[in-house]
Amino acid sequence: DIGWIEVVCGPMFSGKTEELIRRVKRAVYGKQRVQVFKPKVDDRYDETQVVSHSQLKLTSTPIERAEEIFYHLSADTQVVGIDEVQFFGPEVVQVCEALAYRGVRVICAGLDQDYQGRPFEPMPQLLAVAEYVTKQLAICVVCGNPANRSQRLVSSEARVVVGAAGAYEARCRRCHLGEPTEA
Ligand code: ADP
Ligand code: MG
Ligand code: ZN
Repeated sequence: DIGWIEVVCGPMFSGKTEELIRRVKRAVYGKQRVQVFKPKVDDRYDETQVVSHSQLKLTSTPIERAEEIFYHLSADTQVVGIDEVQFFGPEVVQVCEALAYRGVRVICAGLDQDYQGRPFEPMPQLLAVAEYVTKQLAICVVCGNPANRSQRLVSSEARVVVGAAGAYEARCRRCHLGEPTEA
């Protein structure tokens, strides 16, 4: 069997999780064996479920490090989904590649930019080795144009501040501010 890597990227609210769920559900309808993982830090809505902002849900296994996928992986799994992939370290790239070499279809969803519009590692590396890349856009809440950035609304300079509605909003390049608005 031949495997490959698909990456769905874009800012917050661009429908990355919805798209991951759509692809996973289609694979399940196709009688394929699927496993979904997400980083433990993302406990916004639910500890085990992947949940989109529009409340679509998918059962997943929360893990701390990408390598843990190998411990949980069943021998007959054909499709692996990973949400919030930007929260894993650089080793997630090798993990995805190893899965693809084993014949697994790997579907990753994650932010390609941080709250300051900088490339969010390890996304650039993952995008480079992926067979398929889908870049999604949200709608800028300020002007209505297509939005490729996530505006942080709470004041923190940490790169990772896990938060749903309220902590971030989708903004276009023109309306995005480099600093948190509250600061
Ligand atoms: P992501 O995983 O990229 O953060 P989700 O798949 O969880 O996105 O949620 C996408 C959904 O968020 C959209 O279908 C829509 O219902 C909702 N949404 C909220 N704010 C916006 C926005 N500014 N632009 C587009 N969709 C938005
Ligand atoms: Mg998401
Ligand atoms: Zn705008």
